Amino acid sequence: MARIDGIDVVPGARLADLTTLRIGGRPRALLECADAEAVVAAVRALDAADVPVLVLGGGSNLVVAGGDLDLVVVALRNREISYVSGGGDHQLVVRAGAGLTWEDLVADTVARGYGGLECLSGIPGSVGATPVQNVGAYGVEVAQVLHRVRWLDRATGVDEWVAPDALGLAYRTSVLKNSDRAVVLEVEFRLDPAGRSEPIRYAELAGRLGVAPGERTDPAVVRRTVLELRRGKGMVLDDDDEDTWSAGSFFTNPVIGEDELPTVRSRVAGRLGSAQAEQMPAFSAPGGIKLSAGWLIERAGFSKGHPSSSSPARLSTKHALALTNRGSATADDVIALAREVRDGVREAFGVELYPEPVWVGCSI
Ligand SMILES: Cc1cc2nc3c(=O)[nH]c(=O)nc-3n(C[C@H](O)[C@H](O)[C@H](O)COP(=O)(O)OP(=O)(O)OC[C@H]3O[C@@H](n4cnc5c(N)ncnc54)[C@H](O)[C@@H]3O)c2cc1C
Repeated sequence: MARIDGIDVVPGARLADLTTLRIGGRPRALLECADAEAVVAAVRALDAADVPVLVLGGGSNLVVAGGDLDLVVVALRNREISYVSGGGDHQLVVRAGAGLTWEDLVADTVARGYGGLECLSGIPGSVGATPVQNVGAYGVEVAQVLHRVRWLDRATGVDEWVAPDALGLAYRTSVLKNSDRAVVLEVEFRLDPAGRSEPIRYAELAGRLGVAPGERTDPAVVRRTVLELRRGKGMVLDDDDEDTWSAGSFFTNPVIGEDELPTVRSRVAGRLGSAQAEQMPAFSAPGGIKLSAGWLIERAGFSKGHPSSSSPARLSTKHALALTNRGSATADDVIALAREVRDGVREAFGVELYPEPVWVGCSI
């Protein structure tokens, strides 16, 4: 392994060893970058030479093709954390290297008694990827707590701090998702130094915590409860649990126009009866009405564990929204299952599902 100014060139790398779905072939090279300056130098040089780059954090939101991949992987491994004052009303900001594991950052802030990140406990991957798809869980999105992002703008080559407005953050997306726009180098988040959690908005979590929706409470208790809930759904990485060998939720929750809701409800009623149609989860959201992808998948006939215990790729046995690799699946196996589910939901209810992960060298 050669070491050049904070860059380790790792020979013989396979994306299957670097992604949580455990699938993916061999890149031209893997560059492990220990600090932001190494990332900037590597990406600037590769962009100048027109070499395709895959920026990699924890590999937990990727579906990568097998075989030889015509790209260089730049893996971010800058992991420093510092606490600084500022951030307006909240008065405390934590700054973290993009390569730090997100869970390590959440754990550090909660252990110090600071509120803000606790509902996002247990999400795999890196700090730098959290703005990419505006990660969210249990009623909180990164957009709510994001203070600033330091990025390398790949069009201009400039390394700069930008405000959240520059990121176009929306439900599971931003200007960074599925684009070569920029590489996130460091991120700052606003925290509550008085030790109050973000308001608890997610009904299931509020119920478990015994608080009214909108109340704030002890971040350590919220974190513990979120981790329990996530483990029950196979949503905390565990080497011994194949239900977590996934890319998380495989489809985003579909957002339909308000005028389409009666048609979807009547298709649900036609297939499953009017009681189910009335119970179908549907929430107001920017752009229309948000439905539950997991609910639609199960009601379309794809139960947890589909298609069978001997299939290399199957739905998690804990959560129908996660497509898992049971050890020997290829990207083609995952794609075939994803298409079956997507097409089945469309046929049953006329609702289109869109994948949440980023595709590299393949597509649904
Ligand atoms: C079990 C499980 C549970 C999950 N639960 C959730 C959840 O609750 N909520 C949620 O939102 N997501 C969830 N996810 C998805 C995933 O964890 C998040 O999207 C996470 O932020 C991805 O981080 P990563 O570092 O692994 O990104 P990677 O998979 O390495 O990369 C994903 C994409 O982001 C780009 N990228 C990565 N780092 C940078 C950077 N520094 N600058 C620019 N681009 C970058 C990559 O090029 C790629 O396009 C889950 C995944 C799994 C496996």
